[in-house]
Amino acid sequence: MTEKLAIIGSGPAGLTAALYAGRAMLSPLVFVGPAFGGQIATTTEVENFPGFPAGLQGPELTAAMREQAERFGARMVEAVVESVDFSKRPFTLTADGQTYTAESVIIATGATPRPLGVPGEQEFIGRGVSYCATCDGFFFRDQEIIVVGGGDSAFQEALFLTKFGKRVRIIHRRDSFRAGATLQRYARENPRIELVTNTVIEAIHGSSKVDSVTLKDTVTGATRRTDVGGVFVFIGHDPNSELFQGQLAMDDHGYVTVDGRLTTSVPGVFAAGEIHDRIFKQAITSAGFGCQAALGVERFLADAG
Ligand code: NAP
Repeated sequence: MTEKLAIIGSGPAGLTAALYAGRAMLSPLVFVGPAFGGQIATTTEVENFPGFPAGLQGPELTAAMREQAERFGARMVEAVVESVDFSKRPFTLTADGQTYTAESVIIATGATPRPLGVPGEQEFIGRGVSYCATCDGFFFRDQEIIVVGGGDSAFQEALFLTKFGKRVRIIHRRDSFRAGATLQRYARENPRIELVTNTVIEAIHGSSKVDSVTLKDTVTGATRRTDVGGVFVFIGHDPNSELFQGQLAMDDHGYVTVDGRLTTSVPGVFAAGEIHDRIFKQAITSAGFGCQAALGVERFLADAG
């Protein structure tokens, strides 16, 4: 059976697209991907999603979005899409060895945390190096923690990590931060957080797990070694677009190119969220893009007849 719409990804963009497409009677098939909920499901307190004045946990938000989409007929497949063929319609997708066909596709595969690329980082992933505070913070109770980055992610996750670490140092390569004013204020008011500017990590050291890092002053060039149990890296994200290389137009950074209606270079294939959005990257903007893509699909299918 050919599906009317396949959605790849289950973050705010994919789930909002699923809700709108469900309400348009398209009975969308949603490929959940490697981790249900996407990035927002790995964060703790979400304070800026409208409609929740007291805030809520990331996983609570995505669970509610899923329930709402399913109420209108969206179907979730707990599988990772391994290949796609967008060369002709209906489009073909394979996931967990099964083949699916669909009249239209919304790509909402989001983005993945960017690695630092310093010696020791890859070696110690899961043994002191992490990209997810909610997943791994618990392992660093009463330890020294370093968070790398100067954006919202670094600040938000550093605040969360103060529940565990005896001290959380935010290491940033410049002397001013990108993070929003509120998060910066929370961090400056938190006695467990220390802000270390003009500094980068040059190498991560340890034996069975991380025990120290070499820090380098970006102004003087001086280096020093400091003891640390956990290194959390939040220096931005790269779009998860490898699967679509050679089939969809992309920019130099791998962001899928879309027009004003979120159509990709292939009519009938739409993109929503951090796979194409290199500017806003908020849960609410991704949800908005998911809505737009679903409306685009509805119109595309109506025009296609
Ligand atoms: P981001 O805003 O791109 O910030 C990345 C940070 O990492 C920057 O401070 C950057 O330094 C630094 N950096 C980049 N490459 C580096 C390297 N190789 N070595 C050392 N430092 C490096 O990324 P993000 O914090 O993940 O946020 C992404 C988007 O999600 C943003 O739009 C943000 O607003 C949003 N977000 C929002 C919330 C919230 O609203 N609560 C929470 C999380 C994320 P420079 O400043 O020098 O470039």
